[in-house]
Amino acid sequence: MRKNASVALVDKTYDTYKNDLAKQKRELKRLAREGQRSGDYLLLAAAYCALAESYSQLDEMDGMFSSALKAVALLKDTDQYELLVRAYGSLGYVYTYQENTQMALSIDELAWQLVKKHRLKGQTRIRALNSLSVSYHEAGDCKSSIRFLTECLELINTEDREDVVGRAMYTLNLAECHKDSGELEKAREVLASMAPWIDEVPYSPVVCDYYLRYAINAYQRGDREKGDGFMDRAFGLIPEDSFPHPIYDDLRLASHILSHSGDRERAGRILKLMTVYAEKNKDPMPQLFACRMMADYYHSFGEYERAADYYGRCEELNERRANELKTMHLQLHKRMLDTDAEIRALKRKMRRSEELITREPLTGLLNRSALLTLSAEFIAAAERRKQKVGGIFIDIDFFKECNDTYGHARGDEIIREVARACRREETANIRFARYGGDEFFGITRGLTDAEVTDVACRICRSIREADLPHEKNPNGGRITLSAGVVNVAITEHTDTIIEIANYADKAVYYAKNAGKNAVYLLDYDGSVDKKGRNAAFVNIPF
Ligand code: GH3
Ligand code: MG
Repeated sequence: MRKNASVALVDKTYDTYKNDLAKQKRELKRLAREGQRSGDYLLLAAAYCALAESYSQLDEMDGMFSSALKAVALLKDTDQYELLVRAYGSLGYVYTYQENTQMALSIDELAWQLVKKHRLKGQTRIRALNSLSVSYHEAGDCKSSIRFLTECLELINTEDREDVVGRAMYTLNLAECHKDSGELEKAREVLASMAPWIDEVPYSPVVCDYYLRYAINAYQRGDREKGDGFMDRAFGLIPEDSFPHPIYDDLRLASHILSHSGDRERAGRILKLMTVYAEKNKDPMPQLFACRMMADYYHSFGEYERAADYYGRCEELNERRANELKTMHLQLHKRMLDTDAEIRALKRKMRRSEELITREPLTGLLNRSALLTLSAEFIAAAERRKQKVGGIFIDIDFFKECNDTYGHARGDEIIREVARACRREETANIRFARYGGDEFFGITRGLTDAEVTDVACRICRSIREADLPHEKNPNGGRITLSAGVVNVAITEHTDTIIEIANYADKAVYYAKNAGKNAVYLLDYDGSVDKKGRNAAFVNIPF
């Protein structure tokens, strides 16, 4: 699938500002506005998709949720499956964060079905597999989780060997899944398999996570010396004043083990890190973990009263977390309803922008540039399906005299009248544009020669029969039209729309020369050269 220029622009912006998240967010919002203003759906959708990821790094779940919802709504009807899978990934992430496992799993499954159906590869497939494995793990189905992670790692090993960070993260997840499904030996094996390459991983939280798990593993096996060694290596990788949450759970477990084995110094170090983190984070979860650790710590060193204090605070925090979760679910629901309304308004605005950009104001028909875009689609589709593409050129007869006699305003009305006649013929395969002053151009797809000429004849007849007065027109003193029709089979040396329009223009020229109020078909048999020489022009009575 070729990447659209708008999508590429969003990707480039995202990358350019990856080290300045506030700026990244601002620039992506600007692109979203630009997409909305210019009627570029894909730019708007891609910007929302990237915005969701930007919000995720800023831990702004509300923004992430509504951006992801908007991206999904806008992308659903396009063929940008990779983007849609990414948007689903963000949505699933928010649900996981809110402990809404059921929803997270449904979204990840939806994304995975898309990946399979459209045979998406590379990072899109890898990330979808990982999200799915995380959701299954959360839901307690370790077996499925292991299956998806194994496939994920196979893909990295065959397709993206450079991605050592991903490889490290997914391998650690795999070890965790084995551990949680009770296969401790297997978990150990997986961890051991990382030893030869773990130091090549340039991203410290992942490496730190690895050493922590190794330390825990060693402690659990009773090998305290080894455990201490790995633990100290992990400490060396954790920044002094904060630590990133991927290693959160492991630190908790390590602290528990250390407290119970009487290692007051190391347990105390973890405690300090955790407290700093809890103070910085207003979320009750880190505070809860810190409190529980404190309680465990004091309990294992016999300071029961202090421990009891902390256990008491844990109770309070637990309750607060439960209440917050409830409110969060309600908020999420409300946000979803609000976002639904926003999406509807957004779509309305997009349609309006689209109209402004693609429509010609006097007649409401497509303008010339929109016709060029649409023609390219018609020609490409016709080529695939071996269909013919038709062109209908329509020009008002003696229109200058009409303006001179009845005034410009009356001329405008007549132009609108002809536009209405064209519009009545429009279907998904027949579209009309205002080409110039008193010229109209229709493009058709998949019609026979007779069907295309019938369209032209009906329009010319309907205007003639409307009997709009034009005393200077010798053809009955009323407004008449002349039309030129061409219908070509799209071959390897495909005709461009300009060539098709030129053929049709040639046919109009014949109609005008033959006295106007006429329809001429260029009888195209493939032997006609670009200038229309050797062509036979046939008068079609109507
Ligand atoms: P023919 O029968 O050969 O087509 O002659 P014609 O007079 O129709 O063609 P010509 O191209 O000489 O003149 C077209 C006229 O259309 C000239 C211009 O004043 C008029 N025109 C172009 N745009 C508009 C418009 O938006 N409104 C009105 N009222 N007239 C327009
Ligand atoms: Mg004219």
